[in-house]
Amino acid sequence: MNEQMHNCPNGHGFMELTEYEQQVTFRGIDLTCKGTQYACKTCGLLTASIKQAGAMQRAIADHYRAKKGLMTGQEIKIKRKELDMTQKSLADAMSVGIASIKRWEGGIVQTPGMDKLLRQAFWPNEREITVSGNRPFSIERIKLVLMEFDTLYHHNVLKDGDKLLYSAKLLWYADMAAHRELGRSMTGATYAALAMGSQLNNYTELAPDILHSDERKAEPLTPEEKRIIRRIYDKFPQEKDAFHASHREAIWIKRSIGEIIPYADSSELQEL
Ligand SMILES: [Zn+2]
Repeated sequence: MNEQMHNCPNGHGFMELTEYEQQVTFRGIDLTCKGTQYACKTCGLLTASIKQAGAMQRAIADHYRAKKGLMTGQEIKIKRKELDMTQKSLADAMSVGIASIKRWEGGIVQTPGMDKLLRQAFWPNEREITVSGNRPFSIERIKLVLMEFDTLYHHNVLKDGDKLLYSAKLLWYADMAAHRELGRSMTGATYAALAMGSQLNNYTELAPDILHSDERKAEPLTPEEKRIIRRIYDKFPQEKDAFHASHREAIWIKRSIGEIIPYADSSELQEL
């Protein structure tokens, strides 16, 4: 940018480009982001150019989105170009203004609803069917499936303030195996490939809803579904076993962070 940015204002000459890590809490999530800034070797003064500060803001937003299972700015841009879409044609496909696309690609976090619209615009054929596994999404059924696991594990697999680290893996196996063997998922949930494994899409928002939902409103589990849940428990006597197994699944490994794991991949499950 500006040449003066590279000179120490205290008259010590050129400042050195250095890397640094910043710990931030963004929308309640702790993130560590790497950035660059200029440092004076003589007086220790640190300055960031407007460009560097902007890059840090984008890094924070992208890191947050990856953790939340939302598409990052970079992912939106790459996918859009892959499909030969302009920002305008993507905006038209989603019935939003072009300014929204520019903002999301530039580092503003989209809402979960807008994220869903983005995915529908990018993967029109995968929508509903592969994303929910031929069943409408049901929070009550998630609760019901988890309660079935509760009786087998002899404790509540989903606790208050839970990040669904283990329980989401049990759900994922139940949904994927049901889709593979019965042609239909159990809960209609959508799963994203996150760093901590396959995870319920937008799990932080869903967790309290699941805990407070009324499982009696859900369609009861069929004997076949109960057998699948029992098989998962037999295979993974400790909940962490399901967690570790999920990290060996090629269908999680091959997805990039934040990407949806389609139910079409259920035929490639290896550990169950
Ligand atoms: Zn200086």
